[in-house]
Amino acid sequence: MKTIGLIGGMTWHSTVDYYRFLNEGVHRRLNGAHSASIVMRSVDFEEIENLQIAGDWERLTALMIEAARTVEAAGADLLLICANTMHRTAEAVAAAIGIPLVHIADATAAEIRRQGLKTVGLLGTRYTMEMDFYRGRMEKMHGLRVLVPGEAEKTSVHDIIYNELGLGKILDASRKTYQRIIDGLRDRGAEGVILGCTEIPLLIKPADASVPVFDTTALHCKAAVDLALE
Ligand code: GLU
Repeated sequence: MKTIGLIGGMTWHSTVDYYRFLNEGVHRRLNGAHSASIVMRSVDFEEIENLQIAGDWERLTALMIEAARTVEAAGADLLLICANTMHRTAEAVAAAIGIPLVHIADATAAEIRRQGLKTVGLLGTRYTMEMDFYRGRMEKMHGLRVLVPGEAEKTSVHDIIYNELGLGKILDASRKTYQRIIDGLRDRGAEGVILGCTEIPLLIKPADASVPVFDTTALHCKAAVDLALE
């Protein structure tokens, strides 16, 4: 079995799920007492969030490269950046290391296409919903049509991630807000919705949504387990 490398802590609430899903995934496939072989570098999210707010993607890229090299030197055979947003740095990180990076958007797109969907809504941080690194990849590389919420709704989605989910707060009122936004995307033609922030699955479960949802944390882990056991 290959060793899975993680850059975690973005935020640690979703990294807990990464750790659990990877171990459960390996155990489901190999049985016995098997669990995943993992190394992790977990960062201080306060520093990451402040650099995002400052728009300092150069420094963020340098931090991700440093973390990736630490994980590679510790024996990882493949790398996961445990957040959608920080995939803004993924191309530079992949070019700076000698092990494969499992891209969260590719893992998600593969499942969307497997289910035969063509138009999907995207919920995530403002960076993920607006910047080209994610939507562009979904559209150009994977041939999907990606819808994002309107301005005011984007602000709600983003603020709930940073002010609640990333701090471990799961509130019914925010679940209702997300449900309303998912319904709006459905009414505009979305056949499914990408939970494109690794904390959103802590708030929205498949039964909460009026269309199929794509849990990027779980799909990223599944792709990593497939590669680790290849
Ligand atoms: N975990 C989040 C994501 O998947 C947001 C935290 C971050 O900004 O990295 O995008």
